[in-house]
Amino acid sequence: MKYISTRGQSPALSFSEILLGGLAPDGGLYLPESYPQFNDADLSAMREMNYRDLGFAILSRLIDDIPIADLKAIIDKTYRADIYGFTRKGQIAEDITPILKLEDNLYLLSLSNGPTLAFKDMAMQLLGNLFEYVLAKKNETTNILGATSGDTGSAAEYAMRGKKGVRVFMLSPHKKMSRFQTAQMFSLQDDNIFNIAVNGVFDECQDIVKAVSNDAGFKAKYKIGAVNSINWGRIVAQVVYYFKGYFAVTNSNHQKVSFAVPSGNFGNVCAGHIARMMGLPIDKLIVATNENDVLDEFFKTGVYRPRGSANTYHTSSPSMDISKASNFERFVFDLVGKDAAKVRELWGSVDQGGAFDIKELMPKVREFGFVSGSSNHAHRMQTIRDTKAKYDVVIDTHTADGLKVALEYFDKATPMVVLETALPAKFEDAIKEALGETPERPASLIGIENLPQKFTVMEAEVTAIKDFIVKHI
Ligand SMILES: *Cc1c(COP(=O)(O)O)cnc(C)c1O
Repeated sequence: MKYISTRGQSPALSFSEILLGGLAPDGGLYLPESYPQFNDADLSAMREMNYRDLGFAILSRLIDDIPIADLKAIIDKTYRADIYGFTRKGQIAEDITPILKLEDNLYLLSLSNGPTLAFKDMAMQLLGNLFEYVLAKKNETTNILGATSGDTGSAAEYAMRGKKGVRVFMLSPHKKMSRFQTAQMFSLQDDNIFNIAVNGVFDECQDIVKAVSNDAGFKAKYKIGAVNSINWGRIVAQVVYYFKGYFAVTNSNHQKVSFAVPSGNFGNVCAGHIARMMGLPIDKLIVATNENDVLDEFFKTGVYRPRGSANTYHTSSPSMDISKASNFERFVFDLVGKDAAKVRELWGSVDQGGAFDIKELMPKVREFGFVSGSSNHAHRMQTIRDTKAKYDVVIDTHTADGLKVALEYFDKATPMVVLETALPAKFEDAIKEALGETPERPASLIGIENLPQKFTVMEAEVTAIKDFIVKHI
């Protein structure tokens, strides 16, 4: 299996060759040159598999340059009940992504039972093990540089901590993350994890990362890498739980299932699209946004109009606060029939700060099952309260956006699976606002705010950050 760029001007590469990189050299995103297909007989065989075997059945069709015994071992080591250990009443940790029934045909798929309580662990934990393996094979090292306002940084650090050949330099805005998120990251004492608290806001952290990455000489010399949401390894890992969720709520491959996905960078729902392209019988893929509704606008009108970061709202579902959806290009590539020249033309205007209108393709968008909706703070609060009152289940703000929009499309006859992208414990203040009570916290994280913290406070200066990196590698 080779991987090609959505812009069509980069050489086709193998999985291990694209794993450690970000964008393709032509500025595009990598996709497999064709999607592996699972037929009815395959689906029936997969239906009975546990998460690890299912993961192997899917990933081994997309990753063909890691010996299968090694790939199996990596997957088995990643998806263990002791890593995805948090469960609600009646759920089994061994299921890794247990399903929670709210009412007939309405379900939550628990994706946030991993170490940092957000769905990003599902992919990032696999990435950590794949990175360590591939780097050892190539006898290389990498220094991951990132900026975070919370979820991504902690998921990356918990995935990469203690991994040979990997260091993580994570910038975060000093004193601007929640106490819990700060404690999660800063309490890590591993030698390969460097938390840099920048005197500034998140956008300044991100600008520094961009500036460092744009210095090609520095990047090559100090082996600067990234684990951002466009990484193909992350997308591919997320495909697995769509299959798992589908099997959990059906008993025949003739049934179709809809998925509602709280979305920001379009990474999670892109994996759902890919699952569908591989033959999973998906009815609708429901893209749920918050007030940052770039994607909702596209799926309603066919106009994609990214907003500048100055026009990004800070909301109570902060992990969906984006001004452009970095994985969206992968979907559009399929939408335009893999016409790379067309993608180049469309992103030619986007990369200049513009927009594009492809409303003539809306019938095809619907054929692919896509619909959308958006949510705001009042909706979130109401959905959290309703869910608690009706089902005695506490959900987080992002999942509430997903459920709110899911209910707009729920017909009671087609199973609807809402992806739970974070646990409520991660967003205590918002839950307190909605319910007047503190959400349950997994036992292992009680008192995390009192642990010793390791971090360095720095000014928002590119040279100083570069010096710090050089000094610590
Ligand atoms: C990252 C994140 C999202 C958005 O996922 P995308 O793949 O960027 O669309 C939604 N909810 C939570 C809790 C997240 O951390």
